Amino acid sequence: MEREEHPKIGIYPGSFDPVTFGHLDIIERSSQIFDRMIVGVLCNNAKKPLFSADERVKMLRSVTSHIPNVEVRAFDGLLVDFAKQVGARVVVRGLRAVTDFEYELQMAQTNHTMCPGIDTIFLTTDLRYAYLSSSTVREVAFYEGKISQFVPPEIVPLVQERCRSLREADGDRKDRQE
Ligand code: ADP
Repeated sequence: MEREEHPKIGIYPGSFDPVTFGHLDIIERSSQIFDRMIVGVLCNNAKKPLFSADERVKMLRSVTSHIPNVEVRAFDGLLVDFAKQVGARVVVRGLRAVTDFEYELQMAQTNHTMCPGIDTIFLTTDLRYAYLSSSTVREVAFYEGKISQFVPPEIVPLVQERCRSLREADGDRKDRQE
């Protein structure tokens, strides 16, 4: 059988609010599987994000600058439309625990039904990061806990600074209520 000439393009979508060592591990490993790996930063997030899509894109570009075949782009709307737009046939997602599986399976099947040319593959988390999520990082940082073991060094001050502003805003709001 002849080998396909087209470059293999993978897409790794997520909120990355903020990017963690768990995400970075999935990006590094998937960049070795695909010719081009596109990290898609979701803009139309139902939850109110800590960082804007532009800020998240910047952070991801900075922590992946050592991987030449990785590109970071923001997107909104349907993932399958973004995948078609960038020419990717494979979506990569990370699996931490059985609890991730039900939602991930549903999303993968929905996307495949909407667009049969697109498949989802799962990379299992590195055990060092199995417990790690962006929401845990936000929570720890909000209460001024140490986050350097969860996110890359250049991300630490950005998260701390944003959480400091949030705490101040929260304090002002409580003062006004009293
Ligand atoms: P989403 O809002 O789409 O869940 P996230 O930024 O939370 O976006 O996660 C993006 C992807 O990265 C998901 O597939 C998620 O399961 C995976 N992921 C998140 N944290 C980790 C981790 N610690 N190890 C491996 N995969 C992870």
